[in-house]
Amino acid sequence: MLLTITYEGSHTQDLGYLLFKNPDRPQVFSLSYGKAYVFYPEVSDTRTTVALLLDIDPLDLAKGKEGSGIPGLFDYVNDRPYAATSFLSTAISKVFGTAMTGRCDKFPDLAKTPLQLTATVPCLKDRGDEELAQKLFEPLSYTVETSRGLLTDAFPEWGMSPYITLTIRGTVLLSALLHHLYVLIPVFDRQKHYYTSADEIRKLLDHGEGWLAAHPERERITKRYLFQKNSYANEALERLRQTDAPEKDDAEDEEAEREEGAEERPAAESDDAPAEQDRPVPLNTLRMEAVRQAVLASGAASVLDAGCGGGRLEELLLKEPQIQKIAACDVSVMALEKAKKRLHLDRLPDAQREKITLFQGSLTYRDKRMDGIDCACVIEVLEHIDLNRLPALERNLFGFVAPKTVVITTPNREYNAVYGMDPGALRHSDHRFEWTRAELADWTERISAAYGYTAVQSGIGTVDENFGCPTQMVVFTRNG
Ligand code: SAH
Repeated sequence: MLLTITYEGSHTQDLGYLLFKNPDRPQVFSLSYGKAYVFYPEVSDTRTTVALLLDIDPLDLAKGKEGSGIPGLFDYVNDRPYAATSFLSTAISKVFGTAMTGRCDKFPDLAKTPLQLTATVPCLKDRGDEELAQKLFEPLSYTVETSRGLLTDAFPEWGMSPYITLTIRGTVLLSALLHHLYVLIPVFDRQKHYYTSADEIRKLLDHGEGWLAAHPERERITKRYLFQKNSYANEALERLRQTDAPEKDDAEDEEAEREEGAEERPAAESDDAPAEQDRPVPLNTLRMEAVRQAVLASGAASVLDAGCGGGRLEELLLKEPQIQKIAACDVSVMALEKAKKRLHLDRLPDAQREKITLFQGSLTYRDKRMDGIDCACVIEVLEHIDLNRLPALERNLFGFVAPKTVVITTPNREYNAVYGMDPGALRHSDHRFEWTRAELADWTERISAAYGYTAVQSGIGTVDENFGCPTQMVVFTRNG
């Protein structure tokens, strides 16, 4: 399964910077269902092509390996290794995820400039629906070409192939092209490789931001993307109807935008939650207090607060004589600005000011500024991370940063019932998932075994006898 993207113009080698993939070095990525390879079949000043090749193991799929969906869904002999399907979308988001946010460190302006791009996807299954490719891509200003061969040259009487080769050409933002492909490739297929969960609505709306609401085929796209789940499709369509779809011609950093919005809301959502109204102490305050105590009990003198948001934890820790050094980071610049204000950073006495460093950074990336700390706090952040990025966070946090203590808090999904929320609904639009106590326990067990930690799981907030506490906390202590 193959996707190629060609950039034509001048200095087209810069495609490497835009994709965060070096043209000189082929790279391989492990996915739960196979491997993805990225390489550049052609590189020149005027024309550069990147290829994403997906090598899927049909046996793994047949066995129902993790990530492949329902066990036994696929036969051993199937088209999955060859056809362009939702596997390719998942690979696009995994391999080109940063480019999809519109970020380019080396040439930020280039990421915001429409470029002459051509994408080719062989083996898309349109089942003879001749117009489908045109209907999907032409409204997005692409020139569309398709070709279809015989099912097999050996037996012309078997007729035409249900697969097409699709080529789309346009002057577009690279990030937009990637989002279009991410959403529209699975629309050709009716077999998604994972359960269609409520989280898929969010993915569809995220990747469709700025274009899907105004797309003439939005109904078909939504229904096919969220196949088999009419209720999800209806909800997504309703939300699209409520969306003003302004033409986005400059690619803002969508990730930052999303994350910035996220900062205030987790507190608000828990403070305002019905069951918390009578509480004299808001859940957020209880949570920070529990974390403060866990940090102090660990004996830490230095703390990393990853995903610090508006700096609530820093406010508490700065007052603690035990804590000599605080490194607080967030992916969102706006969150960091808020933290700076809350902490009155410019007005702090020198002794306190020297204790704290605020910086922009992501817990999913190796970052030297996170090294050498005693205790890492990851407070209401995990659930903002895409599940396919979680392994990167795990490796970085427990493998590289590897502090003596890690304190994690995350919502307890079971408790949403106490808030009267619909089953499957999440507390916050930016949450990628929410875990039950058992799910967190499974994760904790896996992490502890893999990285050599011992963990204690507990709850924060009012205990419900059936559903537990609204917030869950895990304190990991490194063995030895
Ligand atoms: N810990 C704070 C904020 C929680 S909101 C508190 O409890 O008050 C979640 C925060 O995580 C947001 O500010 C968001 O920008 C940040 N975030 C999301 N993904 C991140 C990542 N990969 N690395 C660091 N921060 C991240």
